[in-house]
Order: sequence, then C-alpha cells, then structure tokens
Amino acid sequence: MADLHSTLIHIDINYGQATRLNPLVERITANNPSPFTGPGTNTYIVSDELCTVVVDPGPNEPEHIAAILAATGNKIDYILATHTHEDHSPAGKPLAQASGAKLIGLACEAMGEHLDDTFKPLHSVSDGERLEFGNFVIQAIYSPGHIKDHVCFLLEGEQMLFAGDHIMQGATVVIVPPHGGTIGDYLRSLTKLSGTGIKVLAPAHGHLLAEPDQVMAELYEHRLKREARVIEVLKSEQRGTVEALAPLVYPEVRGDLIWGTHVALWSHLQKLVEDGVVHRNNDKHWMVGSTTAEEIWEWVGEDAA
Ligand SMILES: [Zn+2]
Repeated sequence: MADLHSTLIHIDINYGQATRLNPLVERITANNPSPFTGPGTNTYIVSDELCTVVVDPGPNEPEHIAAILAATGNKIDYILATHTHEDHSPAGKPLAQASGAKLIGLACEAMGEHLDDTFKPLHSVSDGERLEFGNFVIQAIYSPGHIKDHVCFLLEGEQMLFAGDHIMQGATVVIVPPHGGTIGDYLRSLTKLSGTGIKVLAPAHGHLLAEPDQVMAELYEHRLKREARVIEVLKSEQRGTVEALAPLVYPEVRGDLIWGTHVALWSHLQKLVEDGVVHRNNDKHWMVGSTTAEEIWEWVGEDAA
C-alpha cells in the first residue's frame, strides 16, 4: 500500500461524539468498525447559522442516529449521501423523518446485497452541480469506480472533499463489480479529481488526509502496480480462474479478506478484457463465489501461448 501515513491528519476518532474539524465541519464516527470500514463510517456535519447539512448519515443504528440528532439539535436541513452502500445512507431516512431534512444524492441503479433501497433522494445531483446552502456551497462531483453511482462532495472555500468510498484512509477501496464498480472508472475518477485545487480529503472511513494530489497519485500508482502483477501472473500461467489466480497475485492476503482479493482481481481482469489483452470464456458471470469456478481468463496479449 502507498505510504499514506505521511499525509494523515490525526484528530481522535470518537464514537457518538461530534469532533470539530474546521469552522464549518464536524465529524461523528459510527461504531461499525470492520476490515472494510476501517474504524467505522464517518458522518460529516457541515453547518453555519443558516443551514445544517449531513454528509453520509451512516448505518441505520439507533446510537449513531441519536448522536447526529444530539449534535445538530434535531435541526438538519439536508442529508447528502455519496452512495447507497449499507454503511453510508440508511440513517438518512430515519434522520429525515426526525428532522424534516431533505435527501440529496444518487439512488443506486444496481440492486442487491449491501445496497440501501430506502435512500430515495428528493433531488438527484448532476456532475459539477453547485448546491448552495446557507453561506456555503457544496459541489457534487460524479466519481464512479467503487460503485457506479458514487458522488464526491467538495466544500468550496475550505476545498475539503467528502470522498465517500472513493478514497479511504487505512484501508484499500474495494471495487464492487455487481454494483457497477470498475477499475477503469476508478482510475478515471482519480484523474478527474487530481489537480483541481482540493486541499484536504475527508474520507468516509479513517482520518483526514492532506496533500490530496500526492495521495491520489499514490493510489493510482498502487492500482497500476497491481495491474502489472496481474499481467505478470497471467503471462506465466496463460489462463486460470479467479480462485486459482488470486493467491498468486495477492500471496499476503489471508482469512476473511480473501473474498476482497477475488473481487479486486475480477475487476482488474475485466479492465484487461476492455484493454483487449485478456479473454474471458463467457460474459455471464459477474462475480465471485461458486459461479466463477468455471470462468476462465486467458492472456491474449503479447507473449500469449
Ligand atoms: Zn461503499
């Protein structure tokens, strides 16, 4: 993993308590830690005397919802979600019911496990849209990759990017193919966000990160190194299933996280199919589990047998 530690801004993560990050922004972290969520989901509260906006309300857990209501004095005007995974948006509906807030974001077109279909935005954002709240403006930046319907939110002025699951601190972003996630989109979204004057990254998992352009360059580099390793393994094996190839690409990963390597490898292989150097023997299966056991990926680029 790229060395993101040098850019980490350490401010203690407290469950159930609002922590001030700058004059406009506070953070409350949900107590849902895991290998995929780091210390838990960060809910950000952006407010001035005129308006209160919650970004990524988090999981539908009574203690987390109570903490957000306490921190805002039950006064929330808008709730934004970066995407509708179950650790990000489900608290939106109960918070809206308790406070009268309006939901803003993108409903997920994909359906399935780990997605929240209770998040029904009153307003669907478009790429580059500037949302004017009180005396501050939050810009929506469409950023597919982790899943298709993912949007980052830039707090203008502070130039703080609420990065959702596009960039995490302390964990590697999983690209989720059944929810429309692709490595190609992920890399394009990193490129799109780079060099745009963002000053600080506020990820949905982990600490704030300074020097966003450096962080994003390292993430890009990290994915390209993985891709190079996938190509190296495929050139040597010529063909194989995700199950057979994953331990060769990710020899260091064990236990519960092996599932993540299958998903990650699948999306790398799919990008290489799009690049024309890998052939897949069918186009029906989309993911891991028993279904991928018969799915053969074959190297057809240079040095193919
Ligand atoms: Zn997610």
